[in-house]
Amino acid sequence: MENIPKVSELLKSCRSILFITGAGISAESGLPTYRGIGGLYESQDTEDGIPVETALAGEMLYKDPSVTWKYLLQIERNCRNATFNRAHQIIAEMERAFNRVWVLTQNVDGFHTDAGAEHVIEIHGNLHHLKCMKCYWRKTVKDFSGLTIPPKCPKCGFIIRPDVVLFGEMLPFDKYQTLTDQVEKGFDIYFWIGTTGVFPYIQGPLVDAKHSGSTTVEINPDDTLLSGEVDIKIPMKAGEALERIWKEYKEKI
Ligand code: NAD
Ligand code: ZN
Repeated sequence: MENIPKVSELLKSCRSILFITGAGISAESGLPTYRGIGGLYESQDTEDGIPVETALAGEMLYKDPSVTWKYLLQIERNCRNATFNRAHQIIAEMERAFNRVWVLTQNVDGFHTDAGAEHVIEIHGNLHHLKCMKCYWRKTVKDFSGLTIPPKCPKCGFIIRPDVVLFGEMLPFDKYQTLTDQVEKGFDIYFWIGTTGVFPYIQGPLVDAKHSGSTTVEINPDDTLLSGEVDIKIPMKAGEALERIWKEYKEKI
């Protein structure tokens, strides 16, 4: 059986789904990926002569916030006029159609929640959620064009930053706890979409899936670290594959 009909057939007996997404799910929104085809990380050092991982590190933000902010601004500029795509929308629709659906995303663009999904673990945070590094000031800012770099807190004058996990920083405890709780409960089917899967907490649910006999699916036009491990590989773009799976599923029920 071809892979798309196989997945849509399997979904008929599923009550719970975990979607694990990466930069590739936002590629069809026009956002560049990091390590994939045409990724930002493929170019060597930044114009400041340092690797992008150093510029976007927590340590640099404290040492020289203007450097980190310069690259945060570049990422934000890529997102500025972009919005969620059909893949994010279908996942939000599936959340309403199944018993228990969660999304674990590495993306900081906020597109899953913008598309209407509610059970979203933004494990690397959200670029638009700004917070003061000293006091409790917080604000959601969708467009950074009006900010002076580095931006200062209107309350205390200290540097503000996006609520994202920079290189070398810990994952947010509350989000990691939610992820652990949900994975412990288990899911009938797991989808890895548009991620190279380099982080252990992205690969981790595979162990759970193997133990519980759940199905694992990867949607990615390229091969990744996960491709040899999953039960079903769909070598297609996220939006196209999910559109077909969702359509065939709805025809079957
Ligand atoms: P990655 O860039 O390492 O890998 C992207 C993957 O997506 C690749 O395997 C590629 O083949 C695949 N891909 C490309 N186009 C696709 C499409 N249309 N449909 C499905 N798959 C497609 O991304 P990652 O694994 O998420 O790791 C990158 C890191 O960079 C993460 O930490 C993330 O926080 C950050 N990041 C976030 C965004 C965002 O918020 N949109 C964008 C770039 C990077
Ligand atoms: Zn402050």
